Amino acid sequence: MMKLKRCPGCLKNGFETYCGKCRKKLFDGKNVSHILSFNRPEFNRVKRERSGRLSISGIQIKHSLKLEGKDLKLTERGGEYILKPIPSGQFENLDAVPANEHLTMQIAGQVFKINTASNGIVFFSDGETAYITRRFDVKKDGKRLLQEDFAQIADRSEDANGINYKYDFSYEEIANLMMQYVASYKIEIEKYFKIVLFNFLFSNGDAHLKNFSLYRNDEYGDYLLTPFYDLLNTSIHTPGESELALNLFKDDFMSQDYESTSKYSIEDFKEFGSRIGISQDRTELLINEMKKEQAQVFKLIDSSFLTDELKIKYKKNYEERTVRLKATSNKSVENKPTND
Ligand SMILES: [Zn+2]
Repeated sequence: MMKLKRCPGCLKNGFETYCGKCRKKLFDGKNVSHILSFNRPEFNRVKRERSGRLSISGIQIKHSLKLEGKDLKLTERGGEYILKPIPSGQFENLDAVPANEHLTMQIAGQVFKINTASNGIVFFSDGETAYITRRFDVKKDGKRLLQEDFAQIADRSEDANGINYKYDFSYEEIANLMMQYVASYKIEIEKYFKIVLFNFLFSNGDAHLKNFSLYRNDEYGDYLLTPFYDLLNTSIHTPGESELALNLFKDDFMSQDYESTSKYSIEDFKEFGSRIGISQDRTELLINEMKKEQAQVFKLIDSSFLTDELKIKYKKNYEERTVRLKATSNKSVENKPTND
């Protein structure tokens, strides 16, 4: 087995297995090996998600794991972890899906302080990588958190709304539903704005309705956003897909930038912020915070389990998107000669 040289959880240098912090977060401090005792399971009995749209989530296989003593074991019921091996299908660079999801989740959590499900890289006994995440809906006493994803909250299903029910919706409408159900909307909506912006910045083009959920807070009975999950840079695998999984707006609003380039820019996100009730100052602050952490992002990309080639690609995608969040006050687009 190759030398890890960094923690397969937080990617911190100088470790050959999970560091103490990651062991605590993932395994309640138990000394669990980063190498599983089994090889990738045959998955003919696992149901894949159906979707008309070709997407990474549509080909990802999920296995349930349970911690028994210090061993992670496959389980049919009572799963505490979700294991996602390398998927197979038509897309590009699929070997890198676990490393990509892991890196993207780590950037969200570590750099941008976005509340994310605990996660790490594990290896099957033959050395193949997989992504592991701890189920946040399983409580210490083994009971399940009451949670619903936004397909359920919006009352959308394949039967009623067709095969693309997870995608035929907008991020603005999700915010509208939050306004209806979330008492501490003012706080939660900024977290939501941040993740939509994050998904744009890190080319996550597959953040569909089921990738956002609310849970009921036991103490007060109110509803809050669950930690975020399933974050990955999909452009590495499905180049040419749309920039965001859902439309930003519920109507056909387009910023001038979008009208001329068909690409989202800072103007769209400012409009989005204002529509979902975030003040202009706060919106600008949130956008600026998201733009300024390049050095830390690059450091994590460099320590990730991506190949060198894909590290370069990941950085390039990220830089391209960052540029689009630059202010366009000089309206340079308008001054360019047009072809028509
Ligand atoms: Zn760690």
